[in-house]
Amino acid sequence: MTFEQTGIKPELLSAISEMGFEQPTPIQEKTIPHLLNNKNDLIALAQTGTGKTAAFGLPILHNCDVNKKDIQSLILCPTRELCLQISRDLDAFSKNLKGFKNIAVYGGADIGKQIRELRSGGQVVVGTPGRVHDLIRRKVLNVSQIRWMVLDEADEMLNMGFKEELDAILAETPAIKQTLLFSATMPREIANLTKKYLHSPEEISV
Ligand code: AMP
Repeated sequence: MTFEQTGIKPELLSAISEMGFEQPTPIQEKTIPHLLNNKNDLIALAQTGTGKTAAFGLPILHNCDVNKKDIQSLILCPTRELCLQISRDLDAFSKNLKGFKNIAVYGGADIGKQIRELRSGGQVVVGTPGRVHDLIRRKVLNVSQIRWMVLDEADEMLNMGFKEELDAILAETPAIKQTLLFSATMPREIANLTKKYLHSPEEISV
C-alpha cells in the first residue's frame, strides 16, 4: 500500500514526501485506513521507532476541521520529551495544512505561556497527564468536545503513576469519541484501562 492509496489529504502527502517517507510502515499500513474509514476504538501494541506518531497523527490531521479553533483532539503521553517530539512531528506533517495548530503542554515549564497558547486556539493538544489535568481544572483547557483521544505509551503513563490523572481527564471527555491506545506492553493494568475506556476496540500489533 502507498500513502496515496490511504486517501490522506494532498497537503499531508506533500509534507511527508518532503520528509522522505516513501512507504507506510507496518503500523501505519494498519492504522491509517482503520482511522480514516472506521469509528471503532483501537488498541495498538507497538514499540517506539515503528512510526506510530504518523500512524495516529496523519489521520487526526486529515480529519481535523482547520476552520475551527477549538480543541478536537487530545494526545496524552508520559514525558515532556515525547510530548515535544510528537508536537514537532505534527508541525512537520501539517506544514502545508493552513490554519492548523497543535499546542504542547507539559510539566516543568512556564504554565503562563501554555495558557496564552491555549487561549489563542488550536485543534490538537499534546500533553503530559499532570499538566493537562491542571489546565482542565483551571478551566483553560476544554476537552468536552474532542473527537479523538490518543493514549500514547499507555504502559509508561501507568508506570509513572498517572492513573488518577488519566481517570480525571477521561471523565471530562465526551462519551462519543474515538480512542486510540498505544502501548509497548499489555500488562493487566492496561487491560483494565482498556475495558473501562475503550468501546469494542479492534486490536493490532506489529
Ligand atoms: P516514531 O515511531 O513515530 O517515533 O517514528 C520513528 C522515526 O521514523 C521518526 O524519525 C519518523 O520520522 C520516521 N518515520 C515514520 N514513518 C516513516 C515512514 N513511513 N517512512 C520513513 N520514515 C518514517
